[in-house]
Amino acid sequence: MAPALFLDTRHDPLLVGVAFLVAAFASYVTLDLARRVHTAAPGARRRWWAGGSLAMGTGVWAMHFVGMLGFDAGMPLGYRAGPTLLSWAAAVGAAAVALGLATRDRLGPVALGGGSTSMAVAICVMHYLGMAALEIAPGIVWRPAIVLLSVAIAWGASAAALGILFALRRHRGVRRLQLQALAALVMGGAIGGMHFTAMAAAQIPAGALCLSTDGLSGQPLAAIVAGAALLLLGGALLLSIIDALGSAREAQLAHSLQRANVDLREANDALLRRAFEDPLTGLPNRALFNDRLQHAVARIARGTSQGGPPNGGPAERLAVLFVDLDGFKPINDSFGHEAGDEVLREVGRRLLATVRDSDTLARLGGDEFVAMIESRDAAAAALSLAQRLIDSLRRPLRIAGQEVALSCSIGVAVYPDHDDGGQRLLACADAAMYAAKRAGGGTCALYEPGMGGDAAEQVLLQQALRGAVERGELMLYYQPKVDARHGQVRGLEALLRWRHPERGIVSPAVFVPLAERFGLIGAIGAWVIDQACAQLARWHAQGLRCRVAINLSPYQLRQADLPARIRTALERHQLHPSQLVCEITETAMMENMHAERSVLDQIAALGVCLSIDDFGTGYSSLAHLRNIPARQIKIDRSFVVDLAGSADAHAVLEAVVRLAHALRMEVVAEGVETDEQRDALVRLGCDLLQGYRIARPMPADAVPQWFEARQERPLPQAGAAGEGSFQTVIAIPR
Ligand code: C2E
Ligand code: MG
Ligand code: MG
Repeated sequence: MAPALFLDTRHDPLLVGVAFLVAAFASYVTLDLARRVHTAAPGARRRWWAGGSLAMGTGVWAMHFVGMLGFDAGMPLGYRAGPTLLSWAAAVGAAAVALGLATRDRLGPVALGGGSTSMAVAICVMHYLGMAALEIAPGIVWRPAIVLLSVAIAWGASAAALGILFALRRHRGVRRLQLQALAALVMGGAIGGMHFTAMAAAQIPAGALCLSTDGLSGQPLAAIVAGAALLLLGGALLLSIIDALGSAREAQLAHSLQRANVDLREANDALLRRAFEDPLTGLPNRALFNDRLQHAVARIARGTSQGGPPNGGPAERLAVLFVDLDGFKPINDSFGHEAGDEVLREVGRRLLATVRDSDTLARLGGDEFVAMIESRDAAAAALSLAQRLIDSLRRPLRIAGQEVALSCSIGVAVYPDHDDGGQRLLACADAAMYAAKRAGGGTCALYEPGMGGDAAEQVLLQQALRGAVERGELMLYYQPKVDARHGQVRGLEALLRWRHPERGIVSPAVFVPLAERFGLIGAIGAWVIDQACAQLARWHAQGLRCRVAINLSPYQLRQADLPARIRTALERHQLHPSQLVCEITETAMMENMHAERSVLDQIAALGVCLSIDDFGTGYSSLAHLRNIPARQIKIDRSFVVDLAGSADAHAVLEAVVRLAHALRMEVVAEGVETDEQRDALVRLGCDLLQGYRIARPMPADAVPQWFEARQERPLPQAGAAGEGSFQTVIAIPR
């Protein structure tokens, strides 16, 4: 028998098994990473691609290297570190090609062909470079047919991997996981098959020696490489799973937002309408009136500066008529608010029927209406219109079965005669209206410079306000916010009161705007922050568990030291930031969000809860809600009032609640006055309720008693939001 030309070679079966295992696991992780690379945002995509290529390349290479270490030629073998390292780099390159293609949405034939060819080349380079790390003398004799077969397998495995990677995208859930596991086994088999085919192509001449026995070798090394690769792949898989869970949560949020978006446009339109429309009468509101007034003044000013009208006649003028009902309060008091509202609607209708289509009529609020007319002889036209308006209201009106006659006082001011800037025109008309009232009402008066009584009064009030903090005339009242379903108290809102020595309690609606205009709001606001925190600390010491909300004025938001002031107050009174809520109106929030490094962000960063007050009265779009760092949204009282009668109000509330919940914000309804409103708000999913139906604002020392009175009543079962159960925990206002 002729001596054998080549040595007998075999493989360690244990290491062969390990190699296949590593290959299958690497394939599984690769398929997972490919999905991450495809679905991630552009920035994250690059990171997934780089990290994924490293993990996947190392996995494939580890399979190959462990296979090599399991190679037994009946003599000591070792591998040179340099070529071994290069073979690892080639594996990472093959992985980079595969994951690079995975970013695409589709895999065309050109990409498939190009991609699988470059992957096959990289895999072959990995393998044959790895073999070159084995220095055999005389050299290995290759069987060309089997080498070709190994190249074909590498190419086929690459093409299959790419195909599977794209095909798996069509599947979801458990089905995808099953298919992915199956595909990983097939791919692992193909990669392993390529390796062992290539090994079979190598023939070691009999009597050959290995010159690299001092290089890398041995079973322990195989264990280390396989273990490290499995750890790396396991880490990558874990990261991929965590990321997938996060993405699923985001997708859920996007889905809820999309659902909310269905009604969003309609709700936005309704919001916009409400921003410019008086909900009670459907007339333009103060905002729209001011806007029209400004435009009209600007137009007339332009005409005057260009030399007046072309026909040389008198220049265009503009008159504002300020209409205020005489004795409306007694009607409201004796017939009730609903009758009062009906009267206001009827007044709106009569005034509208009297003015011309080209005039603007608006309701400013309460029983105040304004009209604007443009005419060359504006003063005379306005006085004549005023008389017709007075007459139109004189016709008797039936309220609750009784005939009532209305009367009103009207003040008229003309631009540019009484106010050449046009800014104070409304104030002038208001002053003239007061003059008409002082003259006994039921009449009209044209503005005269001496009439500015209103301004003088404001100056007096403002002077008194300056010392109010030091004299201890300011106080905070507290109004509870309760859980809509279970009735527990969830917080108290601090509301400012001024105990004026002569006028009695003055409403913040009167003096806060004054304080803002005269630069006093900073000091008053600082007092509120400190007082509210001190009170909360006292309540905590008494065992009352709740949060306190303060109102912040837009002027305060412009003070850069506001966040520091809030932090200091919290620290001084040893309160956790989450126990404080800051209420800021929607408009002020929007304004501040546009400022650089907004004060709002800094307050939110303290851990204080931000709440959007009077939501729905500003001009913002619902879409902006996403960008505000607020956790709570307070729906304005006007929506609650309109809930029963207006489909718009209902639609807006529904959309706002849905959107707020999708953004994980809490929804508070303000100004809840009746059982019907409360029930409707609970049905709509509002989280908290606040209003006279629950409790009126009260002095701080009345709060513990109020809490006690509620606790004496049994709490309803969780989830029971029905009529009776709710009433048991709500203190009914007197
Ligand atoms: P707001 O923050 O929207 O407060 C709610 C207002 O509605 C309060 O009026 C409250 O007494 C009243 N209210 C509560 N429930 C009902 C109800 O069921 N029906 C009716 N009709 N009204 C209800 P208040 O206390 O007169 O405050 C008016 C506004 O003054 C506040 O509106 C807030 O914007 C401002 N304000 C109050 N305190 C402060 C303060 O400390 N700082 C600043 N900057 N503004 C304050
Ligand atoms: Mg508020
Ligand atoms: Mg409010």
